Amino acid sequence: MTNPNLPSLFLSHGSPFLAVDPGEVGVFWNHLAQGLPKPTAILCISAHWYTEGPLLATTERPKTIHDFYGFPEAFYRIAYPAPGAPALAQRALSLLHAAGIEAEPDGEYGLDHGAWVPLRSLYPAADVPVAQLSVQPHRDARWHQRMGAALKPLRDEGVLILASGGATHNLRELQRGGAPVPAWATEFDEWLADALAAPRTEEILDWDVKGPNAHRAHPSPEHFLPLFVALGAAGEGARAERIHQGFTMGGLSMAAFRFIDA
Ligand code: ZN
Repeated sequence: MTNPNLPSLFLSHGSPFLAVDPGEVGVFWNHLAQGLPKPTAILCISAHWYTEGPLLATTERPKTIHDFYGFPEAFYRIAYPAPGAPALAQRALSLLHAAGIEAEPDGEYGLDHGAWVPLRSLYPAADVPVAQLSVQPHRDARWHQRMGAALKPLRDEGVLILASGGATHNLRELQRGGAPVPAWATEFDEWLADALAAPRTEEILDWDVKGPNAHRAHPSPEHFLPLFVALGAAGEGARAERIHQGFTMGGLSMAAFRFIDA
């Protein structure tokens, strides 16, 4: 039996510091997964895999990728041994091809920290197979929405569409823990939550001109683009509710959104 109508999700994964001790957001991620039907597999769109054209990892046994630098040794020993989901990756490829989107398989890519940091709290037993899909930073929001729309049928096949990035993401302006949240970050974060709830979809798709402080919130777009895959996978007219909010290291948003079909 498949799990009917799993939602698509967008999670802000924060900094790699959350890998060892996710704290409050880890508790939220764990409760979130417990409140959903258990997926047969997860399609994870991670900000940390960006490629020229869309790639789908068909890896059978994905290795844990420690794609960060200068962290304590313990961070590099973390493993998230979830199986890969090559059949899901092939199914996603055929859905993208049917929508006229050229996507290709990648038989080697593992799980990057955009995927495994939240997944360790969502599914600590690592018993749900995962396939990753890459983002295309030189493409716009509408391109990623189109990919999501093509992948929407997966939600009726027991697949959780999990987009992982950041609602704001400016590494040059990170502060130490406990620093006040800067206004540019709060303004963008609140605008996003309001526009997704309304929904004002065209405004969100034009985020780089319509969002307040858009280029300060996202000097580069790769952490924001996964959101549009989740939006597309929820279908025309979908809205989203913010199911978690907060900031870390100054202006790094930890906001999470659950998309709701129209
Ligand atoms: Zn990241």
